[in-house]
Amino acid sequence: MGKIILILNSGSSSLKYELMQMPERKRLGKGLVERIGTSMGKITQTCGEKKVSYEMPFPDHKVAMNEALKLMSDKDSGIIKDTSEIKAVGHRVLHGGSKCIESMLVTDDVIKHIEEAVAWGPLHNPPNLIGIREAQKRLPGVPQVAVFDTAFHHTMPPHVYMYPLPKEYYKKYGIRRYGFHGTSHKFVSKRTAEILKKDPKDLNMITCHLGNGSSLAAVKGGKVFDTSMGLTPLEGLMMGTRCGDIDPAILPYLAKHGFTAAELDNIMNKKSGLLGISCLTNDMRDIEDAAEKGNKDAQLALDMFVYRVKKYLGSYMAALGKTDVIVFTGGIGENDGISRRMICENMESLGIVLDLDKNEGLRGTEAVISKPESKILVMTVPTNEELQIALDVYEIVFEGK
Ligand code: ADP
Repeated sequence: MGKIILILNSGSSSLKYELMQMPERKRLGKGLVERIGTSMGKITQTCGEKKVSYEMPFPDHKVAMNEALKLMSDKDSGIIKDTSEIKAVGHRVLHGGSKCIESMLVTDDVIKHIEEAVAWGPLHNPPNLIGIREAQKRLPGVPQVAVFDTAFHHTMPPHVYMYPLPKEYYKKYGIRRYGFHGTSHKFVSKRTAEILKKDPKDLNMITCHLGNGSSLAAVKGGKVFDTSMGLTPLEGLMMGTRCGDIDPAILPYLAKHGFTAAELDNIMNKKSGLLGISCLTNDMRDIEDAAEKGNKDAQLALDMFVYRVKKYLGSYMAALGKTDVIVFTGGIGENDGISRRMICENMESLGIVLDLDKNEGLRGTEAVISKPESKILVMTVPTNEELQIALDVYEIVFEGK
């Protein structure tokens, strides 16, 4: 008989949950509580054909967790019979700092480390902690595991993770590159090796997680060598609303024009990227539709997004020396043939030859999209962060790894 694992992603104004039976990898059902902390919120739950959704106020995460546990074990519309069926909980945590370098059982020390990392994940780590504390209270005695978005990247060597700032800031403020989307890069790189029937140790790959948030990882023999996000998820690629890499001198320059640090932070995280350039939307589908209809700003946003991925791809190919596979994942990577085609365009001399027919219109499936003569295999592999969390939890709690 399998074990039922509850996977929780407690965000600033939302609580996502999923129940999975392991080791069968059976997805039992999932739910979402939205608009926590506002006057009226909403809970939605799906379990096979059964879908329930209703509005109610969720003044805080405590009420949200309470309702979620009640609904998931509801006699009529529930996913499980009773919450006592939950044998372990896996929490998605954004930032593990330098101490939490792998998924681990939640202890007082682990909570302390997550608190210490609040400085670098101010929007995510506090609600992640609330989720952990609530689950501990509501499900006493059930093992809780924290799964960190930074953990998979801990193998980066110092010359890759250090910033060329005065070295003392590393010690004093913990300023270094950590990387994010680790759960996705881990899942996709392992799954790719599985599909190819190879040991991850024998493969060098570049995993491209392209979604509303985007990052690339150069994975050398199963271990991350470099990734495009840094101290925070702002570094690297141009994203839905985040600017990614810009000349850091732009900040003091804008400060001279009267912008405060908080305003600049907000602009770079919420008003830039595809949204900032298109002046329209952060959604790639709408950007492409508008570009197709001749909207020049949307076309510029698309061109910039693609160009910046291409630049990172080329630099990671140089960093790896030899690249065996390039994998696309995330909402854009899995579904958007246009971006994939544009990213891989004119890279034949670097060993990338895309099969345009296969690539076109391919959505959400595991597939090889390069031609046989392509020296580098190009693939799409849908990510599954919830499954990766469940796999980590199962290993730690039930296999004692
Ligand atoms: P998040 O980072 O929030 O998890 P997702 O990975 O879900 O985001 O990716 C969302 C992005 O994927 C959006 O920009 C959306 O437009 C894009 N996307 C989803 N489906 C398609 C598609 N069929 N074609 C192009 N873009 C798509």
